Amino acid sequence: MNLYRQPKPARREVVAKGRFYAADENGRRTSSYGQPLLLSQTYIWVDESLTIPLESIIELGSTKRSGFIRFEDRLDGTIKEIHFTFPGFLRPRLDKIALFFAAVDEQRRIRVQELQALDRLDPVEPGCELCDDRTADVYVFRTLKFVGFAPFAYSYSLVPGRYLLCRSHAAEQAFKVNCKTAILGYLGFPGIIAAPYYVVRNLVELRRNHVLSVNEMAR
Ligand SMILES: [Zn+2]
Repeated sequence: MNLYRQPKPARREVVAKGRFYAADENGRRTSSYGQPLLLSQTYIWVDESLTIPLESIIELGSTKRSGFIRFEDRLDGTIKEIHFTFPGFLRPRLDKIALFFAAVDEQRRIRVQELQALDRLDPVEPGCELCDDRTADVYVFRTLKFVGFAPFAYSYSLVPGRYLLCRSHAAEQAFKVNCKTAILGYLGFPGIIAAPYYVVRNLVELRRNHVLSVNEMAR
């Protein structure tokens, strides 16, 4: 199981929800569209490539222009931070973010108590997302979608997905992601050049010998 990439919670599992804009540390928007953050009883769903388990949250804070979630990423042993903002008339509406954070904080308290009672505050041992094989590694595969001619009229998205997979499921996933890029990534310029690049890059990622193996991480 990969605690950092869990399925989008169904509507009845959503405890609270906020629609904010992804931002950098200075509160500048890095995305032109609002993104829903979904709070379930055990995690925050950010997007298809990231969920944050409530017990891994270290701080819910804010700067002058953004709200942030700081959490421990046990897959690579780092502390990560994601920032959000919500544009207002004169200044960002951080009150909206604070409201969502209050709900998260409440739910996190309940969750930590629950895990303490079960004596399970240490996370479930990570394994392949699909078959739970314990030799799983972390892979980052990128999907490119590109249509149009830059810089005139084009739309593109390059979505990195971070997966925790065993060897054979990693090969399958690399194939799937590359099929998507092959179908949707090369329509126009520079997509026609970039698509093959990302296909190759995903294959290199698949062959890369991962220094960080889950077995080593499991202390
Ligand atoms: Zn597997």
